[in-house]
Amino acid sequence: MKIHEYQGKEILKKFGVTVPRGKPAFSVDEAVKVAEELGGRVWVVKAQIHAGGRGKGGGVKVAKTPDEVRIYAKAILGMQLKTHQTGPEGQKVRRLLVEEGADIKHEYYLAALTDRVTQRVAMMASSEGGMDIEQVAHNTPEKIIKVFVDPATGLTDAQATELARGIGVPDGSVAQAVDTFKKLYTCYMETDASLAEINPLILEGNGGIKAIDAKFNFDSNSLYRQPEIVAYRDLDEEDADEIEASKHDLSYISLDGNIGCLVNGAGLAMATMDTIKLFGAEPANFLDVGGGATTEKVTAAFKIMLKNPKVNGILVNIFGGIMKCDTIATGIVAAARETHLSVPLVVRMKGTNDDIGKQILKDSGLPIISADTMADAATKIVAAVKH
Ligand code: GDP
Ligand code: MN
Repeated sequence: MKIHEYQGKEILKKFGVTVPRGKPAFSVDEAVKVAEELGGRVWVVKAQIHAGGRGKGGGVKVAKTPDEVRIYAKAILGMQLKTHQTGPEGQKVRRLLVEEGADIKHEYYLAALTDRVTQRVAMMASSEGGMDIEQVAHNTPEKIIKVFVDPATGLTDAQATELARGIGVPDGSVAQAVDTFKKLYTCYMETDASLAEINPLILEGNGGIKAIDAKFNFDSNSLYRQPEIVAYRDLDEEDADEIEASKHDLSYISLDGNIGCLVNGAGLAMATMDTIKLFGAEPANFLDVGGGATTEKVTAAFKIMLKNPKVNGILVNIFGGIMKCDTIATGIVAAARETHLSVPLVVRMKGTNDDIGKQILKDSGLPIISADTMADAATKIVAAVKH
């Protein structure tokens, strides 16, 4: 689960990391009011969307007067902000963050994330902050410094100092940097984050260390014990179809292709998507109906897939284990009828009672195409959508 920058900064502040003073604003008037309350002479008006790269896209502006705050707030609020992380259609800006301007002497990069190889939390830092870290990793990998944290000790002073020295924090600011790194580690652990990224973490003119951006991802398996994080959820930023799917206990991810896939089991779903690609087409989604492919679930799944206008064929690939193929076939037939399915449907069923299941599909009188192997199924659906 993702959250907004201003929410991330509330969390960082709670864990003792220095952030600029600021507040969210939902209207232009509110933005100006926030600036006036904050006082000072420089403010930053920032689009709040669940994607980075806002600065380059025109979603971060530095204002020198309350009038400028108004002008920028007006321009940014409601805009369709396009960044390299939003996709070509962009994301509508519904919230702003207005905060005091920072006196930036240097921009660093700092992140905590889980490293699968070492099975530890990695703390990663770079002297090259403010820009795309993927680009830094590609062009100047030596400028990224990583330490792996032993869960028994947490991030040690020695490790945090190695990071601070490694990215060139000046002597007088090392102590605060070390303190910030340790606090970010604690914050990461206690909130069940899977990514906590501060880009940039800045060195201020007065030597202070401050987080002026904040990006968090949280492990959705831990949300049951993180009510404060769940409260930050903003459904406007999430894919409407994915929200609908989660209500029916379906694991669904929208993709760019045209063949809808309905599969039971995540591994089989991945294999099905690979097979579709191997046969020259692109899957429109990942959809795992899980263990129970009931009529209700299959119907909901069909409806969600068909909402996507690009879908011009559906491939169902089911392994009938505990859930028998005849039960699934009955569900598919009912779902196809209820949704008045008008795109080609290829069904591959294997496992318990697959012969009875195939007969049910055949007897339905619906134009359902049966397939035996995965290759057969992929060949048939790719051919069907071409017509
Ligand atoms: P992102 O582009 O979505 O990652 O948004 P950021 O919050 O990282 O802002 C992008 C850039 O705007 C930063 O790297 C800074 O260079 C600049 N910026 C952000 N806040 C301030 C500020 O308070 N003062 C100044 N001068 N620049 C800022
Ligand atoms: Mn940033």
